[in-house]
Amino acid sequence: MKIADRMEKLAPSLTLSITALANDLKAQGKDILSFSAGEPDFDTPQVVKDAAIKAINEGKTKYTAVEGIKQTKQAIINKLKKDHNLDYKLDGIVISNGAKHSLFNLAQALIDEGDEVIIPSPYWVTYPELVVYSGGIPVFIETDEHTDFKITAKQLKEAITPKTKILMLNSPSNPTGSVYSKEELLELAEVLKGTNIIVLSDEMYEKLIYKGKKFTATAEVSEDMYNRTVTINGLSKSVAMTGWRFGYVACPDAKLAKAMSKLQGQVTSNVNSMTQYAAIVALEGDADKDIEMMRIEFEKRKDYAVKAINDIEKLSCFDPDGAFYLFINIKKFSNDSMKFCADLLESKGVALVPGLAFGMEGYVRLSFATSMENIKDGINRIKDFVENN
Ligand code: PLP
Repeated sequence: MKIADRMEKLAPSLTLSITALANDLKAQGKDILSFSAGEPDFDTPQVVKDAAIKAINEGKTKYTAVEGIKQTKQAIINKLKKDHNLDYKLDGIVISNGAKHSLFNLAQALIDEGDEVIIPSPYWVTYPELVVYSGGIPVFIETDEHTDFKITAKQLKEAITPKTKILMLNSPSNPTGSVYSKEELLELAEVLKGTNIIVLSDEMYEKLIYKGKKFTATAEVSEDMYNRTVTINGLSKSVAMTGWRFGYVACPDAKLAKAMSKLQGQVTSNVNSMTQYAAIVALEGDADKDIEMMRIEFEKRKDYAVKAINDIEKLSCFDPDGAFYLFINIKKFSNDSMKFCADLLESKGVALVPGLAFGMEGYVRLSFATSMENIKDGINRIKDFVENN
């Protein structure tokens, strides 16, 4: 069978492949500790499960409107108003099968052949793939620990060309955990003023913020930023609902939402109805206590892991403000993150993701969305590996 040429443009997700490999090795009986998955180890809160079961028992099991049922879209609008004082209308909301699907719809609905999309690096693995698949050109802005892995206004200014269509922002970031402050977002907003650049703001990890910091949504910093920003969010990470597949987009432009719905209507139709009913209770705050319990536990693990990694002589890591990842600098030990991860998995049974997957050599990503016991054991094995090689 001849596979379409366009598939050549698409690379498989390295994070998913490593997680699958670690699971296979575990199934073969090997002693494997996996820190590769971007998935909370907590169960979905009971109130959310109950709402889904209720929806099933009430027969809410049919097709819904492609872009989502009205009550769920209203719950998203209410959440954005309550959390960020942002105003959206029903025709600016599209619910999709996870934020990944929302991002795919956006890339397809916005990018024309040759459009440039600015992506701060390191980046979440999927962004450049979606851009290239949609005919766009990713333009990377490199960051490092000196700016807490955040782009500066000066860097943004230098990256903009007449072909720039989109700026991708991801705060809190996967893989670095860095979070843009209101002031930093305002500096970026100043550079964008007077341009037609659209900001895609992926805020998947907004509820996972540490050290008493406050999360600022990109769209809330100024009216100009509100008008150019499309907010992408979902429930996978903050409410431990990865398998339910619920992501959404909020935008001030009904035309864009309509284009996304048109595409979704021909490809997947609506997100499953039970998930949409369950999402209402999560969005309305019924699971807030559970979310806070998870956040507190993640912060404890982060504190332990950051210290333990920084105590290893040849490794260092930035203390993240959000999400559940450590982006570990391995440069004093090796500049080959693929080899580092392969050797570590083979000799110590510890699965990390090479920095190369996120566009940055000399780093590896460790997800601390796993038990404290695993974290302690895993970091001891990493220490042993680094000190004895
Ligand atoms: N955005 C970021 C930054 C992510 O890390 C992920 C998941 O790994 C997603 C979006 C997609 O999440 P989902 O499709 O489960 O909603």
